[in-house]
Amino acid sequence: MNLTVIDHPLARHYLTVLRDSSTQPEEFRSATRRLTYALVMEATQRVPLRRTEIRTPMEPTTGYELGDIVAVAVLRAGLGMLDAVLELLPQVKVGFAGVQRDEATAMPMEYYAKMPELSDASVLILEPMLATGGSLSWAVSKAKASGARDITCLCVVTAPDGVTRMYQEHPDVRIVAASHDRELNDSFYIVPGLGDMGDRLFGTQ
Ligand code: URA
Repeated sequence: MNLTVIDHPLARHYLTVLRDSSTQPEEFRSATRRLTYALVMEATQRVPLRRTEIRTPMEPTTGYELGDIVAVAVLRAGLGMLDAVLELLPQVKVGFAGVQRDEATAMPMEYYAKMPELSDASVLILEPMLATGGSLSWAVSKAKASGARDITCLCVVTAPDGVTRMYQEHPDVRIVAASHDRELNDSFYIVPGLGDMGDRLFGTQ
């Protein structure tokens, strides 16, 4: 299974803020951003670097530059993770994948997709809640159709169903998460989870 759950005290702290039902949208957004820093650090462990010769004030030395990185935000909850990605990777190009969950069937329904050139890039897909896996699997297929070959998904919380589905449909794709939770409930929400990520980010509940 290509799932890495980060084990860091700061990640646990910010995840607890997110899980707490009394957390209001302003604090929820900043905790999401701070937790995403930790996810990005883990997800970029293996991105390719280019060697470059530079000069310190003391002498010449070898430095390293990041290769091409593209982030794809799965709308709308993935937007909550985007600021942290832009802050740590200011040169990143950004794609958007708009998919809506049919509440009755939990099947993904596309409403928007816009991808930059992906073929030589390390691609980070931002989808905070990996529940059934329908939306993320669809977004990964979309990125692959645009040429993506090196894909890592950043999730706040995953559920067993979603991780299994991703492994079956995209065994080449890595997942980095802050927690792997117990299960889905009858409405396909993750438990214990944190509720509806989009609603909590944007105050729409
Ligand atoms: N999407 C969410 O926002 N929360 C869940 O628990 C599952 C899917």
